[in-house]
Amino acid sequence: MDKLKEECGVFGIFDPDGKDVAHSIYYGLMALQHRGQEACGMAVSDTAGPVGNYRCVKDAGLVSEVFHEKNLKEIKGNLGIGHVRYSTTGGSRPENAQPLVISYIKGTLALAHNGNLVNTTDLKWELIQNGAVFHTTTDSEVIAFYLARERVHTQSVQEAVAATARKLSGAYALVIMSPKKLIGMRDPYGLKPLCLGKRENSYILTSESCALESVGAEFIRDVKPGELIAISASGIESSFPLAKERCAHCIFEYIYFSRLDSHLDGISVYDARIAAGKALARSHPVTADLVTGVPDSGLPAAKGYAEQSGIPFGMAFHKNSYIGRTFIKPSQTERENSVHIKLSVLTAAVKEKRVVLVDDSIVRGTTMKNLVRMLKGAGAREVHIRISSPPFRFPCYFGTDVPSGDELIANRYSLDEIRQMLGADSLGYLSLDDLSDMVNGLPVCRGCFDGKYPMVIPEPKELPFWCGE
Ligand code: AMP
Repeated sequence: MDKLKEECGVFGIFDPDGKDVAHSIYYGLMALQHRGQEACGMAVSDTAGPVGNYRCVKDAGLVSEVFHEKNLKEIKGNLGIGHVRYSTTGGSRPENAQPLVISYIKGTLALAHNGNLVNTTDLKWELIQNGAVFHTTTDSEVIAFYLARERVHTQSVQEAVAATARKLSGAYALVIMSPKKLIGMRDPYGLKPLCLGKRENSYILTSESCALESVGAEFIRDVKPGELIAISASGIESSFPLAKERCAHCIFEYIYFSRLDSHLDGISVYDARIAAGKALARSHPVTADLVTGVPDSGLPAAKGYAEQSGIPFGMAFHKNSYIGRTFIKPSQTERENSVHIKLSVLTAAVKEKRVVLVDDSIVRGTTMKNLVRMLKGAGAREVHIRISSPPFRFPCYFGTDVPSGDELIANRYSLDEIRQMLGADSLGYLSLDDLSDMVNGLPVCRGCFDGKYPMVIPEPKELPFWCGE
């Protein structure tokens, strides 16, 4: 059965003054589109209306494809959550789109989740044995099930969320809409980002600060690891229902996922990427005429490299902005072709030049191999690859989409073999020490680079094939 890996964005808003929130969710999801382009959705309810009355629109596609003026106008209500979703396989199943909406003892509950649990199969097994049925193959549905069950004997939805969280292991940034409350919860390691903002009397919980700016809200603070926030007409409440763990924010958020204008857990994504480029220039200097980055993910680190080295920064590629991330293409041939569809070389800028080409990461090596070939084909004399993260060698269990071990080029080949395969004149990666400096020593999970994870990863239980995972 397909294994789902969720790399998603979440957004939740509550307006105690009763104004409709659908348009704000729409703009928030637009700002989070880079976190998931496969499906999106929103669920909205009116806290003054009858309990259980809600509207949910979700489908495969981009935010601009799923929502339009007509359906947005029809989504009435002052409390709502939204989700953008990206997964590799099994993803086209429309039932996996979020928010997930369930009817339970207190009415309607909607949930949007970013991150991957590592004990889903154990939890699912327990539920199946007790007669549960599932409509999706997502771990988010498992969370919803436990929430509904806990709510039967708890005093508040917060208590049900807390009791559920005690069963979860892995990465989760959750936004939950109960009939009268907006709830946010972050796993105790703080693996996935979640922040709190405010616009007039409305509170917002979302994956990245860029989504707050897009709706004219002010950033208040990051939700702390293990923190549960409940927002209702009587205000905002914070609690820490779980045992404290060692913080481990996902380093890949800074390297690649998050938008350049976001700041997460006190660190600006832009500053982190510039710092990585500067560190690369110090650890892997080279004599060259031009520093360029792979648009868009490699550009800030390329700028940092140029600033530190004194070599001029310039554009070497034109990017067709209307094409999604190449990574989502399922087959290798499609991936190879999509690099050419997405990027074309600016011959006049690179001809006869010694070029430093910077990108944030190499996964399979497809992008780099093609770009080096394009640069050399356009007359570049030398191409020196610099990567603003360490070699990507280990799986991620928490929601970063990483192909299986032997597809990871750094897992199978030595540095020089990789350089040769990519056709480059030199190759340099960021060191693990420089990786820590890039985020000013913030405690991070860098398991994809060093194979050390912040928690024990249980062996997944064999489930009947129709259950997924
Ligand atoms: P590859 O061509 O397989 O070596 O992939 C490297 C390219 O994919 C780089 O340009 C990265 O910016 C991008 N990338 C790295 N990790 C991911 C990810 N988890 N999801 C989507 N794109 C990624």
